Amino acid sequence: MKKIALFPGSFDPFTKGHEDIVLRSLNLFDEFVIGIGHNSQKVRYIDIQIMKGLIEKTFSAHPQVRVEIYEGLTAKFAEKINAKFLLRGLRNTTDFEYENTIAQANVHVWSEIETVFLITSPHLAYISSSVVRDIHKGGGDVGSFLPYQI
Ligand code: ADP
Repeated sequence: MKKIALFPGSFDPFTKGHEDIVLRSLNLFDEFVIGIGHNSQKVRYIDIQIMKGLIEKTFSAHPQVRVEIYEGLTAKFAEKINAKFLLRGLRNTTDFEYENTIAQANVHVWSEIETVFLITSPHLAYISSSVVRDIHKGGGDVGSFLPYQI
């Protein structure tokens, strides 16, 4: 059976930290879905369809990677696309505390789901979408944080 992984996130924006997690885990899975979670209560900094296109372009050389937008529970979406592996990146202990709880809760939603964690590459650990947004809003150059041009 094909091993399908779901890498879920807000990706507002998708950064070189996210790209690194995807590239490092590509040979672990047969198919790879980058899932952009849509939350109608939240206003995004970068439009979700534009973000989808930019991520697709980033991985155009990797046909096993596709990008989808989903709404609602991540584990429900994983079940729908039969992705038994949820991929998440860990930067620090704050990420760990949060992810630990979410991973345990997800099993209650779909018992077959297994969360796989990759520790961030040290040179990318300081990158977060919120820092990129803040620098961009302030007129700073964010080119070195992103795997594409905005
Ligand atoms: P969410 O809103 O679900 O936390 P994010 O888009 O912020 O979504 O992050 C998605 C995933 O990528 C999370 O597992 C997060 O820990 C991980 N991540 C974020 N930034 C980095 C980075 N610089 N290096 C590695 N993983 C990261």
